Amino acid sequence: MAKQDYYEVLGVARNASEAELKKAYRRLAMKYHPDRNPGDKEAEEKFKAAKEAYEVLSDPQKRAAYDQFGHAGVDQAAAGAGGFGGFRPGASFSDIFDDVFGDIFGTRASRSQAFRGADLRYDLELSLEEAVQGTTVKIRIPTRVKCRQCDGSGAKRGTTPSACTTCGGQGQVRMQQGFFSIQQTCPRCKGSGKIVTDPCSACHGQGRIQEIKTLSVKIPPGVDTGDRIRLAGEGEAGENGGPPGDLYVQIRVRPHPIFTREGNDLYCEMPISFVTLALGGELEVPTLNGRVKLKVPPETQTGKVFRLRGKGVRSIHDDGVGDLLCRVVVETPVHLNQHQKELLREFEASLQERNGKHSPKARSWFDGVKKFFEDLKS
Ligand SMILES: [Zn+2]
Ligand SMILES: [Zn+2]
Repeated sequence: MAKQDYYEVLGVARNASEAELKKAYRRLAMKYHPDRNPGDKEAEEKFKAAKEAYEVLSDPQKRAAYDQFGHAGVDQAAAGAGGFGGFRPGASFSDIFDDVFGDIFGTRASRSQAFRGADLRYDLELSLEEAVQGTTVKIRIPTRVKCRQCDGSGAKRGTTPSACTTCGGQGQVRMQQGFFSIQQTCPRCKGSGKIVTDPCSACHGQGRIQEIKTLSVKIPPGVDTGDRIRLAGEGEAGENGGPPGDLYVQIRVRPHPIFTREGNDLYCEMPISFVTLALGGELEVPTLNGRVKLKVPPETQTGKVFRLRGKGVRSIHDDGVGDLLCRVVVETPVHLNQHQKELLREFEASLQERNGKHSPKARSWFDGVKKFFEDLKS
């Protein structure tokens, strides 16, 4: 099968510039990359063809040979037989992939090096009510922002930085090591490609200044301890025109005097007199949206949990609403006067007469204890 023309593979004109070639290859490689098309043979073939075409056409020597002799010219060179001397020894796919993709992923810039600003973290404490209902808080964070005096260039107003002479303004220098030439960040300009000869007085040539930034942060309802809110671009300013970092607001919810939260459910414990538990009654239960009435049936034992549906927290993730689980516990009366004590003794005596009928739990418990000791003896 005849090989397809390299220019056709990339879909560019024969006089395409280096930038056009790169752009075309990048588009095809993004589209047909095996990682994006697992198991797709056709995509893989297209990817390989684009890669091969770009490898040849991006190299001026190989491109000239291809233009003159067609595939024969470069195939010979690839085999090491021809005099066109195209291929770098050891050049591999990853080299070329880096060259083309390095700058979009920000790992390496082809010209001067722009650094993304650092991400920042802010620990925010909220009350349970704020976390559940959402709020807007003002936070103050120490950060580095772009210097307004010099607009981040680091050069005194009215002057511009000059090109670094060590790297010729490229920000990168090539070092020869045996067969390989390795690209390194220029040690003089630290990759910026520029040297500030007349530094800005506000930032001392740094292009960034330390500042306390005040931000208004909207907290969506339903957040909980451990949740993180990302504010894109609110981190430190970048260097050499790089993008700013992000700010992460880390949420911590303070303990609440009444409620504890587990997932979207809220729990509370309510002390109640044993008279109310015995006779039944209506209670007022606190919720985060005010009080609600709860009917306690007669003969309710201590520790009983009542579930109030939908009185919990609205989930930030799936919009479901949790419940409020209210546990009633008997409260032993204190500071009793003589008369009250008499009444209780009288009351207790009245219970004893009926031989445990009024205390189903105690009766079964004592029965269990009795059986336990009998089993030990036998
Ligand atoms: Zn400045
Ligand atoms: Zn330099």
